[in-house]
Amino acid sequence: MTIMNRRFVLASRPTAATREDHFRLETVSLPELAPGQVLVRHHYLSLDPYMRGRMSDQKSYAAPQPLGEVMLGGTAGEVVASQSTNLVVGDRVVGMGGWQDYSVVADKAVRKVDVSPVPLSAYLGAVGMPGVTGWYGLHMICEPKAGETVAVSAASGAVGGVVGQLAKAKGCRVVGIAGGKPKCDYVTGELGFDACIDYKAAPDPAAFAAMLADATPAGIDGYFENVGGMILDAVLARMNAFGRIAICGMIAGYEGAPLPLAQPALILQSRLKVQGFIVSEQPAVWPKALAELGAGVASGAIKYRETVASGLDRAPAAFIGLLHGENFGKQLVKLI
Ligand code: NDP
Repeated sequence: MTIMNRRFVLASRPTAATREDHFRLETVSLPELAPGQVLVRHHYLSLDPYMRGRMSDQKSYAAPQPLGEVMLGGTAGEVVASQSTNLVVGDRVVGMGGWQDYSVVADKAVRKVDVSPVPLSAYLGAVGMPGVTGWYGLHMICEPKAGETVAVSAASGAVGGVVGQLAKAKGCRVVGIAGGKPKCDYVTGELGFDACIDYKAAPDPAAFAAMLADATPAGIDGYFENVGGMILDAVLARMNAFGRIAICGMIAGYEGAPLPLAQPALILQSRLKVQGFIVSEQPAVWPKALAELGAGVASGAIKYRETVASGLDRAPAAFIGLLHGENFGKQLVKLI
């Protein structure tokens, strides 16, 4: 029986704001399985900010997403046909299946997961790439110590939520920065941060800087940056001497907005360590990080939230929403 597969390909490259017509929906038939391959029915597609960078052909750490090819993306799903000796029908797997309902892949291209302790979708969030991102940047770059103050932007998101909870577990005072009161209430009430600043409630950068100063009376020792712009400027001015900053993302600039640094001399004056990183370039930490994160989610010690769009056709709109803060927690698309 021929299975028809719906997929989104990249139709054109955005140079500023991403639009739905940058993507094109196609329906194609799937190839027969070759030995060693499996057919995966995707249950969830992960939407992530890094995809915006791949849609562009500007210089970056990774090659651009080719035009006319299926959009790359993390997926979690179920093996529905197998020519593999390692995976059987019914196995739950995660991989990089892309923006499509099905993928035909080599068995080595997917990882079997146990959905008894952790829900399948969490393997795309707190127990997946975003979780490992938070784990790596916090532990390996921010290097938090008990009693220190750690701040994180996009604090209610897939990465930021993990960062703050791990820093709390280290005995730090943790201050989140997020857009809107509901997100801040969640960050303090559910995730247990000590404070959260709603940057959207600040009428101007000076007001935001004053709110940040109020929330960080002892300054900031470790900062996990997801956003850039006004937020980074204010944080730099609050950093203590020999503070550490993990540059994880600069989402405020992904749609082309310039992100000038107001006072770069503060990096010198405060003798800061400022380090960017790409989590996929740190394979050595993944097993340890995933084990810790999986145990944390299974026990309830690590909490997370998801925003789930329904159906593949909703993926472009949900992705655009993610770039504008409309998601609340990990952005997923439920495909089945
Ligand atoms: P989130 O779940 O945090 O969603 C993105 C959030 O970013 C939005 O909800 C919004 O939160 C915030 N945001 C969006 N636009 C703006 C803006 N213009 N100004 C300020 N905030 C904005 O996404 P992830 O947790 O998946 O990713 C967080 C960051 O981590 C991103 O920058 C991403 O690129 C980066 N990343 C980096 C990796 C690496 O290897 N270096 C790997 C994975 C992610 P709010 O409403 O609170 O503003």
